[in-house]
Amino acid sequence: MSEERVLSAESGAEDVAEVALRPQTLDEFIGQPSICENLQIFVAAARSRGEALDHVLFYGPPGLGKTTLAQIVARELGVGFRATSGPVIARAGDLAAILTNLNSRDVLFIDEIHRLNPAVEEILYPALEDRQLDLIIGEGPAARSVRIDLPPFTLVGATTRTGLVTTPLRERFGIPLRLNFYGAEDLEKIVSCNARKLHFDLTDEGAREIGRRSRGTPRIAVRLLRRVRDFADIAGGTQVDAKAADKSLSRLEVDQRGLDSLDRRYLLCIAQNYGGGPVGVETIAAALSEQRDALEEVIEPFLIQQGLVQRTPRGRALTAHGFRHLGLDAPKPDTPLLELLEESSDEQ
Ligand code: ADP
Repeated sequence: MSEERVLSAESGAEDVAEVALRPQTLDEFIGQPSICENLQIFVAAARSRGEALDHVLFYGPPGLGKTTLAQIVARELGVGFRATSGPVIARAGDLAAILTNLNSRDVLFIDEIHRLNPAVEEILYPALEDRQLDLIIGEGPAARSVRIDLPPFTLVGATTRTGLVTTPLRERFGIPLRLNFYGAEDLEKIVSCNARKLHFDLTDEGAREIGRRSRGTPRIAVRLLRRVRDFADIAGGTQVDAKAADKSLSRLEVDQRGLDSLDRRYLLCIAQNYGGGPVGVETIAAALSEQRDALEEVIEPFLIQQGLVQRTPRGRALTAHGFRHLGLDAPKPDTPLLELLEESSDEQ
């Protein structure tokens, strides 16, 4: 994305420091109750049978805890954890090297699995289904195919775009789990818990304020907490309540609903340049000088979930709610075509 956003849900350099803040067990993991309950059962069943857990696919917007859950699953299973990501595995040989180095029942985590090279994806299918790797070694007439047996393992895939995961790959995951945006209560708990770990004096109301304005995303909650702590430290390290948190968040241009300047630019662009839409996402991306993918993966899911924008077959359109949030009046709806036709037939 062209500008550095404090509300970005994508991981950055500072997130290395967040590793220490990650929950370590399913019990410590806040929110997503049905996912946690189901995982608890599947993990216990796999452990009791001494088998590898079935392959798991986590999907949902960035920053909701997919990587964290993958690590927790490995820890709860008591097995090793290897992490990589779709675009990093460039060739079939890279995947073969990773798979043949796994120990029995290990968890292999592939982030951004929708970005796997098709040639690599092709050899992943038999590996997932039959635990076999078919490789072509050499070139031309000397080329021969070898079959390698793999140890039992669990693939945990993560994606922000399920629509881009090919059907054959999606069907090979026995446990597909969708992560949803977090409610204000869960985010407040996450903020409080992290404030304690950081020895930061934050009141419950202060935590609520930060949680409420975190775009439903734990990664953003943790990041905002750090920024509010920076302001508090420079101001003399006093206790931070809702009012002080609000002041810091306003300085970061995070509004009352938790939207940042890019969210507002997106909404204003549709409202003012295109009369509220519908307008194609490519056009919005060009108008804002942003990548289409970034709009679709990062900006839009939350705005749609909040009912500020809707996706229609003809493009994106602002809802009445969206206009209200910007302090603008929604345009009067056009007279429906059917009514016009009826009127003209009455006149005849
Ligand atoms: P994703 O892989 O979905 O992009 P991550 O697993 O990397 O998200 O999580 C982003 C950050 O948010 C991590 O620093 C993690 O500590 C924190 N986090 C995510 N989910 C939770 C949760 N349920 N409770 C506490 N912290 C969380």
